[in-house]
Amino acid sequence: MRGMAQLVKRAYKYRFHPTPEQTQELARTFGCVRLVYNKALEERIRAYTQQGRRVSYGESSAWLTAWKRTPEYGFLAEVSSVPLQQALRHLQAAFTNFFAKRAKYPVFKSRKRSRASAEYTRSGFRWRDGELTLAKMDAPLDIVWSRPLPAAAEPSTVTVSRDAAGRWFVSLLVGEKIRPLDPVEQSVGVDAGITALVTLSTGERIANPRHERRDRKRLARAQRALSRKAKGSANRAKARLRVARAHARVVDRRRDFLHKVSTRLVRENQTVVIEDLTVGNLVKNGSLARAISDASWRELRAMLEYKAAWYGRDLVVIDRWFPSSKLCSACGARQEAMPLHVRDWACGCGTVHDRDVNAAKNLLAAGPAER
Ligand SMILES: [Zn+2]
Repeated sequence: MRGMAQLVKRAYKYRFHPTPEQTQELARTFGCVRLVYNKALEERIRAYTQQGRRVSYGESSAWLTAWKRTPEYGFLAEVSSVPLQQALRHLQAAFTNFFAKRAKYPVFKSRKRSRASAEYTRSGFRWRDGELTLAKMDAPLDIVWSRPLPAAAEPSTVTVSRDAAGRWFVSLLVGEKIRPLDPVEQSVGVDAGITALVTLSTGERIANPRHERRDRKRLARAQRALSRKAKGSANRAKARLRVARAHARVVDRRRDFLHKVSTRLVRENQTVVIEDLTVGNLVKNGSLARAISDASWRELRAMLEYKAAWYGRDLVVIDRWFPSSKLCSACGARQEAMPLHVRDWACGCGTVHDRDVNAAKNLLAAGPAER
């Protein structure tokens, strides 16, 4: 029997091409968002260190109203107030997380290092006939609809951002009804690989896509070129942009790929068993390739988590101390050691194992006990 559909909030992100006027308006808004965030953070720190008190969102909102009336910060009244209020809400959330020990102390936003963005709630944009117009703008955004928004979707929040490579994005948050998939018999163990991205208990290896190697090489080349440029030079700025573009390409293509892999694993299997491991613990060599693999694994796991929840599947996470590589999946005998360079091995029972496939099989077998 199929379960009840559940309403989830889902973000749809697209690129868009701003007009020169929109570029100017958004750049100004980003600047104001950063300023308001930083000023409010400064005031909150002062209230805490000098008076030992915490500040509410309401109080910080009153500060903003007061700043807009001063000659020095009067320009804050010229951009849409919605993203500025949202910046204060984000700061409030950052403090709530800090006091709940879920996050570090909030830090100031930097023009260079922080992502430039502005968030608009319902009162800050108009959505009509599939066109999105932000407050203080006459024309709708020229959005590249690379995939369709669900029919009759009504965005509740819209976030505009510009990345280090100079590309513009708009993310639309919409409520969407998701129906669980019909149950299936099959389950799978997934081993986070070193040579492959993942190895399945079925024996299948899912390799990183072919373009990944080439993309990484391009990124490494751009980074070397950047390191040779003199600080503050125009060439350095250009080289930095090239690094940002190469990096964005790696990240975007990898994310597409991980979406495909995670959707497939969740569709085909009722239970997906993975290991709670940080690949970084396995191989610590600080290489770029390794950093990207670690990030891939974390991202894949996060996708598996929410997709399993959406579609009525189970994701089982096995304790990191479970010796998935050392056990023989055929007879259960445990090997003393299993050095990383060993790719194939023979157990005393006569079974010859591929290291990763064997580990994935052990995870699959351990799944029911863990649940
Ligand atoms: Zn054996």
